[in-house]
Amino acid sequence: MHDLKGKKTFIAGVGDDQGYGWAIAKALAEQGVEIILGVWTPILNIFKKNFENGKFDVSRKLQNGKLLTFSKIYALDAAFDTQDDVPEEIKMNKRYQSVDGYTISEVAKKVKKDFGNIDIFIHSLANGPEVKLPLLETSRKGYLAAISASAYSFVSCVQHFGPITNAHGSFLSLTYLASERIVPGYGGGMSSAKAALESDTRMLAFEAGKKFNIRINTISAGPLASRAAKAIGFIEKMCAYYEKNAPLKKPLKAAEVGSAAAFLASDMASAITGVTLYVDNGLHAMAISQDSPTLM
Ligand code: NAD
Repeated sequence: MHDLKGKKTFIAGVGDDQGYGWAIAKALAEQGVEIILGVWTPILNIFKKNFENGKFDVSRKLQNGKLLTFSKIYALDAAFDTQDDVPEEIKMNKRYQSVDGYTISEVAKKVKKDFGNIDIFIHSLANGPEVKLPLLETSRKGYLAAISASAYSFVSCVQHFGPITNAHGSFLSLTYLASERIVPGYGGGMSSAKAALESDTRMLAFEAGKKFNIRINTISAGPLASRAAKAIGFIEKMCAYYEKNAPLKKPLKAAEVGSAAAFLASDMASAITGVTLYVDNGLHAMAISQDSPTLM
């Protein structure tokens, strides 16, 4: 993927070295892409401290022996588009007071000023405050918060970063199968948010394709024991279920999602847009669970 060398990416949603955002950062860095990060405002300081103290050094290692580096790390809260959207109590929160300009529009302006245009945008973030509640028990507030942080945030990112992305650039988000199939336990309106994200991927592919000449795709990833997934509560069981029941009987590696993301960002995928690409060892294609006791 030599065309990726020297390109610039903004990755929104890296908080440690365990999630998909980190794996995508590594896969793009392996291809010579310059990495700029957006880290959720309340965890910015802890992320920077861990990074500087060497907590991530082992996983920073790239195949060429060099260490993964970030050109700049911005505070970002993708639940807000402009400062006018930020509620007073959040503005006053000490983790937010110490940083300015963390809304999507403000970060896009800063990136433009500091780096000029980018080529690749990765949206690797989601938040559903009531994710542990069944949809049937989810409040309006919780449902709208899930949609806002996990789906509309991508629309807003395309609105604000689209104009600073070079032609033929690539936008990518991460989604999950619960958008289209029942996955008990993926609650709080998160299944609805992922369905919106996938639908928006198609509409934005059309609109932003026309307006900015960029491609918009989403990867429907299998389970990974990231920090966000652990918060849902049963991620280890989901990983075991996939290993037993997916067509490919192997653990899913975050790096496999990373390499699919690098492919989608590259010219090799120049005709691919509006797509939900499954990177899940094939589980999405199964109708029957092979480890069901009924079949034994
Ligand atoms: P993760 O914890 O590494 O990433 C989620 C990130 O979102 C965190 O860094 C968090 O700080 C950030 N975030 C939350 N709210 C935010 C906000 N308002 N503004 C900015 N950042 C915010 O976990 P992950 O599982 O790698 O999640 C990345 C993406 O992958 C998500 O979209 C998730 O839904 C998706 N995904 C995960 C799995 C899985 O099993 N882990 C499966 C399929 C899809």
